[in-house]
Amino acid sequence: MYSFQKDVILNTNIEQLMVSSDKVAHVQVDNPLEHALLVLTKSGYSAVPVLNHSYRLKGLISTTMILETVLGIQSFEMEKLSQLKVEDVMNSDLPILKVNHDFMRALGLTINHPFVCIEDDDGLFKGILTRRSIIKLFTKSLNKAIQP
Ligand code: AMP
Repeated sequence: MYSFQKDVILNTNIEQLMVSSDKVAHVQVDNPLEHALLVLTKSGYSAVPVLNHSYRLKGLISTTMILETVLGIQSFEMEKLSQLKVEDVMNSDLPILKVNHDFMRALGLTINHPFVCIEDDDGLFKGILTRRSIIKLFTKSLNKAIQP
């Protein structure tokens, strides 16, 4: 009989699964779009967090958002990459987890979001929780449960 360790998963502290802020690629609200496009392209991530100068979360920006903005009627208007700033284009409606939020809340948010940003009680950016880290946790636990 397999025994899936439900409690181990439910009691997981989201801080344990978090990619800490020092390892997260991010951009700042007042960076020009071309800088954001460079960060996204070089990091290989499709979206990254946007912070202000006090290290607080302000939004998310993705390659698609940038390309949609610079796409004119017939061609890309590349001059917009230096004219516009990240804050002109970012999505500021983002879900945010607190470090002490429970695992079920985090799990629910990752259904619709490939990653969720985490902040501390003072509103400072702490890191991100990715869908990948949650799938890894389930895989490890299920592997343990099915191994004799
Ligand atoms: P993953 O589950 O690792 O494929 O990550 C899902 C998404 O989370 C990526 O496409 C990025 O948008 C974001 N992400 C993951 N790791 C990082 C990181 N170190 N820095 C910035 N964004 C990240």
